[in-house]
Amino acid sequence: MGKIIAVANQKGGVGKTTTAINLAASLAVLEKRTLLIDADPQANTTSGLDFDPDSNQGNTLYEILIGKKEMKDVIMDTEIKDLKIIPSHINLVGAEIELINMEDKELAMTNALSKVTDQFEYIIIDCPPSLGLITVNCLTASNSVIIPVQTEFFALEGLSKLLNTIKLIQTRLNPDLKIEGFLLTMYDSRLRLANQVVEDVRHHFGSMVFNTIIQRNVRLSEAPSHGKPVILYDAISAGTNNYLNLAKEIISKNS
Ligand code: ADP
Ligand code: MG
Repeated sequence: MGKIIAVANQKGGVGKTTTAINLAASLAVLEKRTLLIDADPQANTTSGLDFDPDSNQGNTLYEILIGKKEMKDVIMDTEIKDLKIIPSHINLVGAEIELINMEDKELAMTNALSKVTDQFEYIIIDCPPSLGLITVNCLTASNSVIIPVQTEFFALEGLSKLLNTIKLIQTRLNPDLKIEGFLLTMYDSRLRLANQVVEDVRHHFGSMVFNTIIQRNVRLSEAPSHGKPVILYDAISAGTNNYLNLAKEIISKNS
C-alpha cells in the first residue's frame, strides 16, 4: 500500500506545487514508484511537467472525481521511469460544485485512489489554494499532509485555519490523518527576517518541522517553464539538493 501525502496550504504562492513536483520527482529518482496527482484546477503541476492541460481534456482528475473515468485510465508516464502523473484541467473547478450533490461527496478521491494505491510506494497530491471540497477530498484520502510555510513576514498567518480544517477532517472523515511535517520554503539566509521566521516556526511546531529547509533558488522557478522537475533541469542546483534531502528525510521517517 502506497503512502498518500497531500501538500496543502490554502495560501497561494507558498511552494505547494514546487514541492509536489520536486518531491515526487526526487522520490522517483530514488527508485520509489511514485504517483503525482494534480488536484489544482490551475494545473501548474501538469504544465510544469510538460503536459498541455488542454490536450488532456477528458482524461484528467475532473473526470475521475465525478465518476466518469477510473484512475488507472488516466495515469500517464513522465520522463522519469518511476514517476507517473494524473493531470488537472481548469474544468476541475466544476467538480467543487458537481460533487456537492453527490452521495459521499468528501470520499470521491478516497474511492478513486483505493484501486491504485497498491501500485505505488508514494502518492503525492498537489492541493488547490483553498479549503474547499477538493482539498477536503484530498485530505480525506491521505495518510498525511505536508504544509509548506514560506519564510516571510506573514508565515504563520492562516495556519490555524488550516490546522482546524485538519482537526475537523480527523474527527469526521479520516481519523488516521497525520501531519507529515511543516516545510520551510523559499528560505534566504541573507535575510534576518527569514531566520526569525525559521526560529518562530520551529518554536511553534518543534519536531513537526522538517530538518530540510528549501532555499530560495532561481532554478526551482525556471524549471517549470522547461517542463521539467529541477533535477532534470539542473542536477547540481541547490533546489535539486534540497528536494532530494526532503525525499530522503521522508523515506527514512517512513521506513
Ligand atoms: P503554490 O503552489 O503554493 O501556489 P508555487 O510552488 O507555485 O506555490 O510557488 C509560487 C512561486 O514561487 C512560483 O513562481 C515558483 O516557481 C516560485 N518558487 C517556489 N519555491 C521556490 C524556491 N524555493 N525558490 C525560488 N522560487 C520558488
Ligand atoms: Mg500551486
